Amino acid sequence: MILDCAIIGGGPAGLTAGLYATRGGLENVTMFEKGMPGGQITQSSEIENYPGVTGEISGMDLMMPWPEQCQKFGLKHEMVEVKRVSKDGNTFKIHKEDGSVTEAYSVIVCTGSSPRRAGFAGEDELFGKGVSTCATCDGFFYKGKEVAVIGGGDTALEEALYLAKICSKVYLIHRRDTFRSAPNTVKRVEKAQNIELVLNSVPEEVYGDNMGVVGIRVKNADGEIRDIKAPGVFVFVGNDVNNQTLIQEDGSFLCDVNKQGEVIVDISMRTSLSGLFAAGDMRIAAPKQVVSAAGDGAVAALGAISYVDELLNH
Ligand code: FAD
Ligand code: NAP
Repeated sequence: MILDCAIIGGGPAGLTAGLYATRGGLENVTMFEKGMPGGQITQSSEIENYPGVTGEISGMDLMMPWPEQCQKFGLKHEMVEVKRVSKDGNTFKIHKEDGSVTEAYSVIVCTGSSPRRAGFAGEDELFGKGVSTCATCDGFFYKGKEVAVIGGGDTALEEALYLAKICSKVYLIHRRDTFRSAPNTVKRVEKAQNIELVLNSVPEEVYGDNMGVVGIRVKNADGEIRDIKAPGVFVFVGNDVNNQTLIQEDGSFLCDVNKQGEVIVDISMRTSLSGLFAAGDMRIAAPKQVVSAAGDGAVAALGAISYVDELLNH
């Protein structure tokens, strides 16, 4: 059987694409998601800017009902990692990690982005042993202890606030003296009693012993080194686009991407290749928000419905 539409990735973009594609009349739609559906927002301790959702809610709680809603309209979920998407004539091939291949007339790629490493000494060696990119997952290990947070964007500041509720003290280490984060979040951080701002400073080295991280040395703009003793170091320095499934055997991309590897789409989420759509954090100029990723998914699905109708019925 050839699928009407294959959706790669099950975050807000992929799940919304699944909802609109199935509810909009496509018969055979499968979402390929390597883990539990929900996407990267499930790592967030709180989300306060999803319209209509008020009160304190975690990313996990927000996403919980989304898969069930899609499945009600017939979306199938295959829990598998997609290695590559290719096109042969009018048919796409979805190459999966177990070596099997699924065919589809249209594809919506929604593989999102992944946390970046900052690149300081010891970061890779101590990753998972005190260095983390997920406060919701690992914050509890540092209950009543001091931790360091690296970064100055929305993620770093929001997660610093979350950690400040669990930990005795949070050192927020940022390489400049102004933040990229929303002004309201900056105000909350500045007001927090147990967050110390360590500005104009970059991590030099995280060091540890056989139990894990012991501390982190940071260097300020004057070249002075400060040794911060903290068993937990949380790195929130942005994300890389997950575009690996679009890379072909000869190293070229299946469709056009920009210098950062973001997929180039038009306002209908169409890529440069007919029948291939991209949605969410992985596309150019993405606002990197749950609401916009969901909106992209809906737009892409409507495009896929028209494309498949044109291909099969005209
Ligand atoms: P993602 O959520 O990244 O989902 C992509 C999915 O694809 C993942 O589930 C992944 O497992 C899957 N996948 C990837 N590659 C493959 C493959 N090869 N095969 C199969 N599956 C694959 N946004 C807000 O609006 N408000 C917030 O408060 C907010 N807070 C945030 C806090 C944190 C800590 C983080 C990290 C992000 C936050 N964001 C927030 C941003 C928001 O999470 C993203 O913009 C949104 O999740 C993007 O959705 P997406 O569907 O494009 O991608
Ligand atoms: P981001 O906005 O790209 O910020 C990354 C931060 O890390 C920047 O402050 C950057 O410093 C710093 N940085 C980058 N590389 C570094 C390095 N090697 N060493 C030290 N510091 C480094 O990333 P993000 O905070 O993860 O946010 C990603 C996107 O998701 C954004 O669009 C954001 O708005 C969105 N998001 C939104 C919400 C929300 O709406 N509530 C929450 C989370 C994320 P400089 O500032 O000096 O460049």
